Amino acid sequence: MKQLDNRPVLAIGIDAAEPSLVRTLIEQGRMPALKRLLDEGATWSVVESPAWLGSGAVWPTFMTGEDPNAHEVCSEWRWQPETMNVSRFRGGLIPFWKEMNRNGAIVGVLDVPFAQTIGFDKGFEICEWGAHDALDGRMTFSPATLSGIVNEVGLHPFSQIRPGADNFEDDATLRKLVEACIEGAKLRGKLATRLIQETRPEFCLIVFPEVHRAGHRLWHTVSPDDPLYANDGHKEASALSCSVLPDILQETDKQIERLIEATGSEATIFVFSLHGMRPARGVTTLLDPLLCHFNFAARSDGWDTQSWSARARSLFASMKRRAPAPLKRLYYRTASQEVTRRLAQTTMIPTYDWSRTRAFSLPTDQHGWIRLNVDGREVEGIVPQERYDETCCEIAGALRSLTTEDGKPVVRDVIQLSHRTDGSPPKHLPDLIVHWHDAAFCGSAQIKDLPIKSLPEGSGLTGQHAPDGFCIMKSAAGGQQIGERVAARDFHQLMISRLRKS
Ligand SMILES: [Zn+2]
Repeated sequence: MKQLDNRPVLAIGIDAAEPSLVRTLIEQGRMPALKRLLDEGATWSVVESPAWLGSGAVWPTFMTGEDPNAHEVCSEWRWQPETMNVSRFRGGLIPFWKEMNRNGAIVGVLDVPFAQTIGFDKGFEICEWGAHDALDGRMTFSPATLSGIVNEVGLHPFSQIRPGADNFEDDATLRKLVEACIEGAKLRGKLATRLIQETRPEFCLIVFPEVHRAGHRLWHTVSPDDPLYANDGHKEASALSCSVLPDILQETDKQIERLIEATGSEATIFVFSLHGMRPARGVTTLLDPLLCHFNFAARSDGWDTQSWSARARSLFASMKRRAPAPLKRLYYRTASQEVTRRLAQTTMIPTYDWSRTRAFSLPTDQHGWIRLNVDGREVEGIVPQERYDETCCEIAGALRSLTTEDGKPVVRDVIQLSHRTDGSPPKHLPDLIVHWHDAAFCGSAQIKDLPIKSLPEGSGLTGQHAPDGFCIMKSAAGGQQIGERVAARDFHQLMISRLRKS
């Protein structure tokens, strides 16, 4: 076997694994591979990521080493000021491993969210084999010589689940999800082990998205007593054991052990998540009615009685009814990807009267996102650039003072993005990010003095991202030290620094 020029680095992402849960499971002996790393002197650090902006910003920040205002990605959807609409983000981010590959290092990469294949002639890169976030909507890999291994291992169980078509709100479907996640983690371990043995990468990055997928739907089993789950009739879910999510993490830990063994004792190991998970209850739909009520936004059609997702769903349903049988089969095979996207693209932004709209909400599944209609930036812009800060303050002030009828605050914080960057308004990102209090997720809570009720959607979403991730690092020897806190933006520098033989 060829002697490697570098000491190998194995980086394993357990996407959206909540640090506190991982720590508890390590202490309970349910994640022995991670426990062993720590017993052998590995460090534990907190990973800080731009999760405050949105979960879609964390992987792009990690892989490009740039802040969100540079890569301009915080979601699979992107606001286009030239068309006054959102469009599907098609990729194009330049990951740090592109240069490593160009410099001759053997690199292996599996299922990094928001990553696309570059075209390796050695090592391996596989995108969307079994991903939580879909960018291209199909698996791609290189080099082509990997097809034997990929075919031999087969498809990830996620490819059998139609995202968007299943709501995962009943016990039986949730159990299927758990099975798919456990089987998927097992198969991922098998695929990654085969790839590592076959290609001997110097830098290897394997992402497990199973915990992320499950966390959004099963967090009520981890924190069943959280007030967010009280009085909501989630009876079916109560039959699920509190160990279903730990079971998935335990299986992931087993597979991590396999990968460490396959890589060899000389390797530096990173096991990390970029953000965590906490209790949630659906997605709040408050922002658009609030912006309309305060006369920041003006609708020009009759759609204001429906939310964007309700409209997408009704269009979806009518398309299904009208479709001929062969198209229906195609729909069931592919609808969750391309068709959903095309439908959603035309229905996600309500029809506004732009001449009277100063600010409007962007589609999100987490924080509230507000975009200003700025003259010279938006093609229909009406807010003069010199009134940008003032308008942001006006909106933030109106939102911060909101309470429910029974006195609970609704908005935790309103962050102006330009205050956290170089001061200039972003090109595609939201201008204001609204962090909600739990009251925003209580079904039918009346907003005080306003004709608006909180009507969250998608109650099956019981987990939402928490800001911090974690990193366990076990170094074979030397290299840059890791601090108690590490920024997702700078994380890859640490990984690369470990490659060099001192
Ligand atoms: Zn997520």
